[in-house]
Amino acid sequence: MKFATRAIHIGYQSADHNRAVMPPLYQTSAFAYDHIGESMPYVYARSGNPTRSALEDCLASLEEARHGLAFASGMAAIDAVLRACLKPGDEVIAVADLYGGAYRLMTRLLAPAGIKVSFADLRDPAQLEAAITPATRLLWLESPTNPLLGMADIPALSRIAHSHGVKVAVDNTFATPYLQRPLTLGADIVVHSATKYLAGHSDVLLGLVAVSDDKLYHDIRFVQNSAGAVPGPQDCFLTLRGIKTLALRMERHCDNAERVAEWLCGQERIAEVFYPGLPGHPGHALARTQMKRFGGIISIRLKDDSREAASRFAKRLRLFVLAESLGGVESLINHSYTMSHGSMPAENKAALGILEGGLRLSIGIEDIDDLLADLAQALQD
Ligand SMILES: *Cc1c(COP(=O)(O)O)cnc(C)c1O
Repeated sequence: MKFATRAIHIGYQSADHNRAVMPPLYQTSAFAYDHIGESMPYVYARSGNPTRSALEDCLASLEEARHGLAFASGMAAIDAVLRACLKPGDEVIAVADLYGGAYRLMTRLLAPAGIKVSFADLRDPAQLEAAITPATRLLWLESPTNPLLGMADIPALSRIAHSHGVKVAVDNTFATPYLQRPLTLGADIVVHSATKYLAGHSDVLLGLVAVSDDKLYHDIRFVQNSAGAVPGPQDCFLTLRGIKTLALRMERHCDNAERVAEWLCGQERIAEVFYPGLPGHPGHALARTQMKRFGGIISIRLKDDSREAASRFAKRLRLFVLAESLGGVESLINHSYTMSHGSMPAENKAALGILEGGLRLSIGIEDIDDLLADLAQALQD
């Protein structure tokens, strides 16, 4: 079955649920035993719930993985993977331009617990060879990265990591499995903030993990059940419903973003446009090899590189909503410096090129003419 079909059909059999076309919400904390000692598929909702299983199986299919796991948020998913893979004394190497929340989790919670956290600029995969130490257990990648859309060569980095016995996790939130499937490129673990494109309508917080290795699955599942950061059935239902239109939505996000990126390049007040679909983007050639298309996220730097200019532009926009998050049907704009990367120290932001005059656009699926008109009026005096 092809991707768009699997997104709609895999994970759920109506014959097992009174032929309900959509998965019912199993709004229950526990499941009744017939007799003491009975072996049952579902016992207690922290360990498992049929609505959640439908979502976990669907995601596994989309990522071409054997197993899926759902969590209460993207951060809960990231936390579970890190805890399953690392013990005190171990090291994780993360790509330098990491999502702000993952950066905070690693530096403020993992490092004080005795796990070594180091960051590396991995645009050149050879850098990884130099960064790996005998303590390294896990490589943490994002591609494309947030907010400047840096690309990591997943196959090359996975080969180097594996030759040192290091596992590879990829945060695939920006690409989604529709555009990029990291396990097929050599990675061991995929994580998602399903809050973004997978759920897709800015109305749910949820995290997902996909793995094929049975031991990794059991280790992450152990954390999921022991720590209990699981989503409720309603959130699983909403995410499943979002996933049914993922293929359609991603095509439209990409169509619109390609048009917007090209248009922004011709605007006098814009100093720089970051979009992997632009031939001038440093990751363009790599993106062509490991992604189907280039996604819906664009970052820009205004010529007037001040917070005031960024603020004026964001305030003048009528359709683009100034908000955290991305990947919804509506267009969003984010001031990365104070919003998504607010928890990153100023020196790190400066080193990564996350500046006060920078803005990240999440291009929605509205009519392209209205989006371009809105951007044009907001760029005027
Ligand atoms: C939003 C986001 C997260 C965190 O997910 P939550 O669902 O907000 O907990 C992690 N990684 C990336 C790339 C994100 O954009």
